[in-house]
Amino acid sequence: MQTEILTIENGLDKAAELIKNGDVVVFPTETVYGLGANAFDAQAVRKIFQAKGRPMDNPLIVHIADIKDIDKLAVDVSDSARKVIQKFMPGAITVILKKSELIPNEVSAGLSTVGIRFPSHPVAQAFIKACGVPIAAPSANTSTKISPTTAEHVYEDMQGRVPLILQGGSCQVGIESTIVDMTTDIPTILRPGAITPNMLAKVLGEVKTFSGKIVVAKAPGMKYKHYAPDCDMVVAESEEHAWAKYQESKNAGQNPVILARKDYLDRLNQNNQFEYINLGESNEEVMRNIYSAMHTAQDKYNFIICQDFGDEGVASSVMNRVNKASGGKRV
Ligand code: AMP
Ligand code: MG
Repeated sequence: MQTEILTIENGLDKAAELIKNGDVVVFPTETVYGLGANAFDAQAVRKIFQAKGRPMDNPLIVHIADIKDIDKLAVDVSDSARKVIQKFMPGAITVILKKSELIPNEVSAGLSTVGIRFPSHPVAQAFIKACGVPIAAPSANTSTKISPTTAEHVYEDMQGRVPLILQGGSCQVGIESTIVDMTTDIPTILRPGAITPNMLAKVLGEVKTFSGKIVVAKAPGMKYKHYAPDCDMVVAESEEHAWAKYQESKNAGQNPVILARKDYLDRLNQNNQFEYINLGESNEEVMRNIYSAMHTAQDKYNFIICQDFGDEGVASSVMNRVNKASGGKRV
C-alpha cells in the first residue's frame, strides 16, 4: 500500500471517500495525530487495530465535530458531564459516558462505556464533518511506539500501513487528551493531559485522580507499555544527577542527550559541553515538544536523560508520559 500525505485543500474529498468505503485515514488533532475509521462500521474499526498492531481489548475514542452528536452516541448523560462538555469542548478532553446501541463492541472493547472527544483542530473538524459520521481513533502510531505530533512522525512509523495522512502541521498541545470518566460517583481522571485536575475540580467540585489496583484496562498505559522510545531513557532528579549520568554514559561509549527546559539547560551549560534538546521555557511548551523531542532523540542518539519537570499543572501530565517512556527509571 502506498501512503500519501495530502493537505485539507487537495485531500479532504479523498479522505471522506476512504472513510465511506470502510478504510482508515490519519488526521491531525491539537493533541496528537489520530488513526481514524467510521465509528459505526465494525469492519472498518478492525482495520485500525490491524494497522496499529493494537490489542483488541483497548478501546478507542470516538471523535465528533458537533456537540449534538453526544446524545446519539451516549445515554444517561449527567448534568455534571454536560458541564464538562460545555466548558472544555472543543478541546483536549475525552469524556467517558455510558454508550448507546450505535457504538460497536470493537470501539468500546466490550465495555458498556464510550470515550467521546470533540477536537479543536480545524483540519480534524473539517475531516469529521466531511465524513458525516463520528470517527473512532487512537493515536496514529504502531502499538507501544511514541505518539506522533507531526505528519512526518506518522509517515516514518506507518508508511505502507495506511493509505492517507492529512497534513496538519505540528500538534499544539502535544500529548494525548485528558480522559475523565463521568460514569463513576466521583468523576475519575483515567489519563492526565492538558486539562488538569484543578481545572476539572473547578467545574465539578471534586474529581478523583486514578490510583489503586488495576482490574481492567481502563486507561492507556496501565496494562500495556506505552510511549516508549527505541532507546533507553532515564529521568534525572537534578541537574547534578543529569550531568553525572551524561558523563557516565559518554564514558561507556554511548551517545547520550539531555532533554530539559531552557533554564535547566542554561544552568548546566555554564561549565559543560553536552548534547541537548531544549524543550522551551514553560510547561505548556514542554508538553508541546516532548514527543517530538523523543522522536528526534531516538533517531540521533541512543540514550535519553530527561529532566524531572515536577508536578505543577500540566507538568504532572508530561511526567505521566515521561515516566512511562523511561519505564520508571530514575537517577
Ligand atoms: P490512545 O489515545 O491511542 O491510547 O487511544 C485511546 C485511549 O482512550 C485508549 O487507550 C483507552 O484507554 C481510552 N479509552 C477509550 N474509550 C474508553 C472507555 N470507554 N473507557 C476507558 N478508557 C477509554
Ligand atoms: Mg496511543
